[in-house]
Amino acid sequence: MTKYIFITGGVVSSLGKGITSASVGRLLKSHGFTVNIMKCDPYINVDAGTMSPFQHGEVFVTDDGAETDLDLGYYERFIEINASRANNITAGQIYQSVIEKERKGLYLGQTVQTIPHVTDEIKARFHKASQNFDITIVEIGGTVGDIESLPFLEAARQMKLNKNSSDIIYIHVTLVPYLSSSDELKTKPTQHSVNKLREIGIDPDIIVTRSEKSLSRELRDKIALFCSVPQEAVVEAPDAKSIYEVPEIFKKQGIDEQIMMLLRLRSKKWDFDEWNEFTARVKNAEKFEKVKIAMAGKYTKLKDSYKSLNEALFHASIANEVKTEIEYVDTENLLPERIKGCDGLIVPGGFGDRGIEGKIRAIQLARENGIPFFGICLGMQCAAIEFARNVLNLKGAHSAEFAPKTAHPVIALMEEQKKNPQKGGTMRLGSYPCSVKAGTLARRIYGSALIDERHRHRYEFNNAYIKNFEKKGMRISGLNRKNGLVEILELKNHPFYIAVQFHPEFKSRPLKPHPLFLNFVKACRERIYSHETA
Ligand code: GLN
Repeated sequence: MTKYIFITGGVVSSLGKGITSASVGRLLKSHGFTVNIMKCDPYINVDAGTMSPFQHGEVFVTDDGAETDLDLGYYERFIEINASRANNITAGQIYQSVIEKERKGLYLGQTVQTIPHVTDEIKARFHKASQNFDITIVEIGGTVGDIESLPFLEAARQMKLNKNSSDIIYIHVTLVPYLSSSDELKTKPTQHSVNKLREIGIDPDIIVTRSEKSLSRELRDKIALFCSVPQEAVVEAPDAKSIYEVPEIFKKQGIDEQIMMLLRLRSKKWDFDEWNEFTARVKNAEKFEKVKIAMAGKYTKLKDSYKSLNEALFHASIANEVKTEIEYVDTENLLPERIKGCDGLIVPGGFGDRGIEGKIRAIQLARENGIPFFGICLGMQCAAIEFARNVLNLKGAHSAEFAPKTAHPVIALMEEQKKNPQKGGTMRLGSYPCSVKAGTLARRIYGSALIDERHRHRYEFNNAYIKNFEKKGMRISGLNRKNGLVEILELKNHPFYIAVQFHPEFKSRPLKPHPLFLNFVKACRERIYSHETA
C-alpha cells in the first residue's frame, strides 16, 4: 500500500513548496522508493491552459497533453518522472466532475455537498494517482487559511481516518521573516499558521521553514516547542544559490530519515552520486566562461513565465561548462545592436501579436549574421515568416493568427482546428512523434530517426510552401508522418539555425539535458571562440 506525504504552505504564497516537494521526492527516490507526486490547485479553472503566464508563470505540458501548473516541471526535473493529467488536480476539475455526476443522477436523493461529495472526489483522485507507488507526495497549492484550499485540506485530513499513523504524514512549509530593523527572525507567523492548520484538524509532523537567514538552534527549538514537533522535525530551507542544492540541504538535516522513521520505511539503497555530481558542477559555475543569449520573448517581466526554458538552458550550460546570461530583449522596440552583441538568439513560444515584427527582425539578424538561432513554437513560426518574406520575397507573408487575410499564410490553421470554437484544451497538446530526416543537423543532434516531443499550439506550418522553402536552403528536417505536419526547420550554410514547432524545454532534465539545448549552447560557446580567434 502506498504511503502519503501531504505538503501544505503557510503565511505567504510562493514559498517554494514545489521545490520542497520535488526535493523530498528526489531524496526518497534516491533511497530506492517508487515515488509519485501530485499538485492540487485550488482555483476554479479546469486547467492552467487559459491562464496568463504573466499571472501564473509558465503553463507546463505533460506527455498526455495536460496543461498544468509549473510545479509539475520541478517534479519531472527533480524526480525524473513523466507526469500525466492525473498529477495535477484543480478545484475546477473536481467541481466539474461532481456536477456531471449530479446531472447523471449518480447522487439521486442526496443533497450534494462539499463534505462528503467534493472531498470524496478529491480522495478518489489521490487513490487513483497513488496506485503501484511506494510513496505519493501531494502538494496542496495556496496558503492555509485561504477559502479555496479548504476542501483539499479537508480531504487530506480525512485521508488519515481509518489508516495507521505511519501511512500518512503532513509537512508544513512556512515563512520565518527577517526584520532588518531589529535584526531578528520572527517565528510568530509560523506559530499562527500551524494553529490554523490544527483548526482544520491537521497536525504537522515536519515543519520546513523558509527564511533569508539561517535559523539559530534556539529558534528551531522554539518552533518545535510551540508547534509540538520534535526538534529534529524542524528543517530549514534558507535561500539556496541554486534550487538543485535543496535536496542536499534537506539531506544534511536528515529530513529523509525523519520521513522514513515516521512512515516506518527502511531505505532500500542510497544512490545520490549523479545528483551530487551535477550540483558539484553547479557550484563551480561561477568560474565558467560567460555566454550571452538574447531571448526575444514577450513575457519577460515575470521570470517564471519561461521556467522550463530557463532550466533547459541552465542544464545545457552546466554540461557545456559555460555560464549563460540571458538578455531579455524588448521586441516592441528592437535594437539590432543588442542582438548582434549576443552569442545566440532564442525566440520562445508565445501567443498574441505583440512584438511579432521585432521577433521576425531579430531572426533576420541572426540568419544574416551567422548568429546561432533556436526558434521554439512561435519562434519557429516567426522564422518561417521571416524566410518567406526576405528570402522567398513573398510580400506580407504572415501567420493566419496575426493576419487572417494575408496573401501568403505560411503559418495557418488546420481544418479541424477551425471547427472548434472552444479555447480551453483545444490546441495540439502533448507528445507527438516526429521523424527526423537523415543527413540533417537535427538528425545529428538527436542521433535518432524517430523522436517524441511535446506540443502546445494551434497553428501549423503551411505545407503549400514546403517546396519553395527547401529550394532556397531551408530544410524540413522533422515531420510528423501521420498528419504530414512540419516539426523542424533548419537552414543550410549557417553555423546553427534550427527552429522547432514543439517545446523541447519540457523534456530537459538536469541529469539529462536536452540535445537541442546542448547543441545550441555549444554553438553559442563556439561563437565566442571564433570571436576570440578572429
Ligand atoms: N501562437 C502560436 C500557435 O498557437 C504559437 C504557440 C506557442 O508558441 N506555444 O500556434
